[in-house]
Amino acid sequence: MGNLKELIDKLENKRILSLEEFIELLSNFTEETSNYLFEKARNTSKKYFGNKIYTRGLIEFTNYCKNDCFYCGIRRSNVDVERYRLSKEDILNCCENGYELGFRTFVLQGGEDLHYSDDYIVEIVSEIKKRFPDTAITLSIGEKSYESYEKYYKAGADRYLLRHETANFKHYSMLHPENQTAKARQQCLRDLKKIGYQVGAGFMVGSPYQTIENIAEDLIFINDLQPQMVGIGPFIPHHATPFSDFPQGSLDMTLFLIGILRLMIPNLLIPATTALGTIDPNGREKGILAGANVVMPNLSPVKVRKQYLLYDNKICTGEEAAECRFCLANRMKKIGYELAVDRGDFVPLEK
Ligand code: SAM
Repeated sequence: MGNLKELIDKLENKRILSLEEFIELLSNFTEETSNYLFEKARNTSKKYFGNKIYTRGLIEFTNYCKNDCFYCGIRRSNVDVERYRLSKEDILNCCENGYELGFRTFVLQGGEDLHYSDDYIVEIVSEIKKRFPDTAITLSIGEKSYESYEKYYKAGADRYLLRHETANFKHYSMLHPENQTAKARQQCLRDLKKIGYQVGAGFMVGSPYQTIENIAEDLIFINDLQPQMVGIGPFIPHHATPFSDFPQGSLDMTLFLIGILRLMIPNLLIPATTALGTIDPNGREKGILAGANVVMPNLSPVKVRKQYLLYDNKICTGEEAAECRFCLANRMKKIGYELAVDRGDFVPLEK
């Protein structure tokens, strides 16, 4: 235990550990170690963000997907899914509603849906920026060419979320069909960074076949990439996927990793994810208390929410945007935090 506390102190000072040290920490942590880490992580968050939690309005605009990730409920092969697409007007309505509720970041997320050509994405992004110039736009629409990413950026997209899913190539191939590779995914992340996006990487905790060593590799990968955002959440099985019988990821491990990330990159934007809130009724609050500083309430029209099911039992699928916003504001208030009405950009550390 003493040794583990020393490792946490070392992480706080050096902002990185070796692969072996991460493995040691992740293999042996206890409740006491976690509390030691969380206190440091919370203090670090407070130093950079005070008691403010950034909010992102999430718009899940299409559940069509050309990919077939083995873990995902909206994978192409799942024929039980009732597919939907939101038009530009639908998306703008969500933004308008969100803007009135205080959102200054919109996250447009979807399956990889070729119905949305580059020109159409550019049109949507430009129109949002024209109508709501003081907002940030985050895209999360999967793997695209450098040229496509560049077009969206020039149209006004500020950020891009693309979880690397797992840094280990072999593990990646166990989670995806052959035509999807870790190499291509990681290249996308490098392209996005080069273009100038604020970039979000991330992975599922407890995904099938994941080892402690894989998680340590993810942490080293994140340190090398130095993204501005990292989204991690537990893997949760979906009944109509090849991974339906695998167990869900661990709450304790997810929280512990949030704490580690906070010490690794002190000014990092870390969401307390919906998946965390799905495996524990207070999962998002616990995420904040472990060092997260972002929440992403849903702005999608209620009528489509139950169709964007990446995993079973997803929360917040029946509520209006305003309800989600106020529910989260209350949850944050109860633990001493406040939702910010702010774009909530990444702020580089002073040298
Ligand atoms: N298509 C885009 C992409 O590939 O980045 C964005 C949408 S994708 C559904 C968003 C994220 O959902 C994935 O990066 C994955 O980590 C997460 N996800 C998918 N299935 C999941 C599951 N069963 N449990 C937890 N998270 C899951």
